[in-house]
Amino acid sequence: MSSIQERDHQYIAGTYARFPVTIVSGKGSIAVDENGREYIDMGTGIGVDAFGYGDEQWLNAVEAQLHKVQHTSNLYYTEPAVELAQLLCEKTGMSKVFFVNSGAEANEAAIKAARKYQAEHKGPEYTTIITMKDSFHGRTLTTLAATGQEHYHELFQPLTPGFVHAEVNDIDSVKALVAEHKVAAIMFECIQGEGGVVDLDPDFIAGIAKIAEEENILMVVDEVQTGNGRTGKMYSYMHYGICPDIVSTAKGIGGGLPLAACLLSEKLSGVFGHGDNGTTYGANPVCCAGGVSVVSRLTEECMEGVEERSRFIRSKLEGAPGVKGVSGKGLILGISTEKPAGDVVQKCLENGVLCLTAKDKVRLLPALNIPMDVLEKAVAVICEACA
Ligand SMILES: *Cc1c(COP(=O)(O)O)cnc(C)c1O
Repeated sequence: MSSIQERDHQYIAGTYARFPVTIVSGKGSIAVDENGREYIDMGTGIGVDAFGYGDEQWLNAVEAQLHKVQHTSNLYYTEPAVELAQLLCEKTGMSKVFFVNSGAEANEAAIKAARKYQAEHKGPEYTTIITMKDSFHGRTLTTLAATGQEHYHELFQPLTPGFVHAEVNDIDSVKALVAEHKVAAIMFECIQGEGGVVDLDPDFIAGIAKIAEEENILMVVDEVQTGNGRTGKMYSYMHYGICPDIVSTAKGIGGGLPLAACLLSEKLSGVFGHGDNGTTYGANPVCCAGGVSVVSRLTEECMEGVEERSRFIRSKLEGAPGVKGVSGKGLILGISTEKPAGDVVQKCLENGVLCLTAKDKVRLLPALNIPMDVLEKAVAVICEACA
C-alpha cells in the first residue's frame, strides 16, 4: 500500500471500499496512477467527467471563469448561471432552474417543490411521495427515505416520513399506493443506475404518466445519473414521450465540478418564491461555466456519437462468452455476467480498464466522446474478463 493510501486510511472516514489505485492525472478517457500506469476509464467518476479528463473546451471555459470570479453569493447576478439555466430550459421546454451542488440536493429541491405545490393546489394533506423499490435518490435523510433500498435505511432512523415504494414495472403496485395514500408526487429514474442499471418498461412509464395526469399527481424524474446526454438524449425521459413536472439532475452536468439542478415545468414555475429555498455554493459561476461548456455540446451529432458507441459495446458484449445480457441505454450500460460482477471488475482493473458495478452487474459509464479505438481496447478487456 502506498503512503497516500495509508494516510487515507488513517485520516479519511472509512465510508468507501476503494480500489488500491491512486489517480494522479488523466487525459481524455485515460487515467494515470501514482506509478505512472495508465487505465482506460469506463466509469468517469460515476458519470461525472462527461467529456473525460482535462477536455480542452471544458478546461478553457472553467479556467476563464476562474480568473474572473470564482464565487459570489446568490445575492448578486452572474452570467454563467443565467446562461446555463437558459440553455437547460431551451433544450427541455422546462421553465425555471434551481441550482444546487449534488444529486441529493437536487432531489431535496424537487421534493420541496412538489410538496409546496401540492399543499397549495391539492391540499396540505397531500404529502406522500411514491418512489420505486431499488431506486437511489441520495444520502441525505430525506433522499434516503426516498431511496427504495431498506439496507440503506437501517442505521439512520428515523428518516423523513412520507415516502412509500412501488414495485418497478408493476403498475398495479403504483395504483394501490395511490388509492391508499394522499399522494403529492411519483418520483423515479427511467433507468435505475445504482439499483443495477434496471430499465423501466416504456409501458410502465406511460402508465405512471397516465395516473399522474388522472389523479393530479406530480411526475418527478431523477436524471442525476441518466441525464445530460448519457442515454443518447439530453434527458432519458425524452425516450418515452412524457413531460415531467420536475426533473433533477447532477453528475455529468458540470463535467467534473460539483453542480446539480432542479428543473421546474411551467406549472411549477412560481413554486419557489423569495426565501423558499437557497444554497451558498449553488450556481457557483465556475461550476456553471463548466456546465455551459458541457450542455452546449450535447448536440444531435454528439448524441449520435453516444448511440454509435453504445451499439458498438452491445455488438461485442451481447452473446459473448460469460455475458448473460446487457441493460441500459446509450452509455449507461449494465452487463449481467456469469462470474460475480466484482470479480470481472477486478480482472478488468488488473488489465488496465476501470469499470463500476451496480448491484450484480458490471456498469459502464464511459465518456460521451471516448475515442473509438480506446473503446475497442476497453471492450476487448471486458470481454476477456467476462469469459
Ligand atoms: C448519484 C445519484 C444521486 C445522488 O447524487 P449525489 O451527487 O451523490 O448526491 C441521486 N440520484 C441518482 C439517480 C443517482 O445516480
